Amino acid sequence: MKKIGVLTSGGDAPGMNAAVRAVVRKGIYHDLEVYGIYGGYAGLISGNIKKLELGSVGDIIHRGGTVLYSARCEEFKTKEGQQKGIEQLKKLGIEGLVVIGGDGSYMGAKKLTEQGFPCVGVPGTIDNDIPGTEFTIGFDTALNTVIDAIDKIRDTATSHERTFIIEVMGRDAGDIALWAGLAGGAETILVPEENFSMDDICDRLKKGSERGKKHSIIIVAEGVGSGVEISQKIKELTNYDTRVSVLGHMQRGGSPTASDRVLASRLGARAVELLIEGRGGRAVGIVKNELVDYDIIEALETKKHEIDMGMLKLSKELSI
Ligand code: ADP
Repeated sequence: MKKIGVLTSGGDAPGMNAAVRAVVRKGIYHDLEVYGIYGGYAGLISGNIKKLELGSVGDIIHRGGTVLYSARCEEFKTKEGQQKGIEQLKKLGIEGLVVIGGDGSYMGAKKLTEQGFPCVGVPGTIDNDIPGTEFTIGFDTALNTVIDAIDKIRDTATSHERTFIIEVMGRDAGDIALWAGLAGGAETILVPEENFSMDDICDRLKKGSERGKKHSIIIVAEGVGSGVEISQKIKELTNYDTRVSVLGHMQRGGSPTASDRVLASRLGARAVELLIEGRGGRAVGIVKNELVDYDIIEALETKKHEIDMGMLKLSKELSI
């Protein structure tokens, strides 16, 4: 393999730049030419591709977002779109592709691999919902952003003796809610992986209030429902007033934490090694702090990301 490409796709995540840097530098270190595909799969189809040099990825390791830009591209879900992408790569003599993104982007990488173009998936998403890896690039930074917000909201919650509902990202996966809730000392954490009862939530609030708690924090993953709806139901059932904060896109931004930069550097470099070894069609991940790689097609078809139910139980035990 002499030429490889790299793209970022889907929802952006802090640390994607550190991963791009690792791919480019590791590739050049091994005498490869590395091409950046701008704007995800949309840029692949339109041929928005430029050769990257060592300096192209200078001064980006600490930046959030992605210098390669990201996009969502419906056309790439079609076979014709995928073929157009492969033609663009072949025109430049690119023989392998590193795809940094979430599970949707992995589907695209899987499709290219099935059509004979070797791809390696690197897990870049704040949601931590990629099967086969314990952590994804961006999760740690997003968590720290959420915890910072919880701590600040806690100050005002205490001053006014109020219950706050904080809605965080996570449509299908509750990892951000769970980890941030545990780290932020939330009284209640609602995740899409577990059914909840409004009566339970209200009972906990009442018990807390009876023992003189000055405030309460409820973390809601967006996949569970809106924080505003939950607030209204609490009002109906208990007459307690609550305040709602929806953290939104701020969770995607910011300078990546040390942990995300290190993870991104390790995973990006490993992806290049796999392409050099002629092992396309893989995804890289981290398990028990060891780098792993596995079949991208099999992973998407057979594995499912699971939340740590033990941690969820612990959060309940610690917030009695
Ligand atoms: P993420 O990668 O963060 O999960 P998306 O789910 O939006 O984000 O996926 C990003 C892009 O990956 C989509 O816009 C599309 O171009 C591509 N993609 C998603 N699903 C498929 C699929 N089934 N086949 C081919 N490409 C896909």
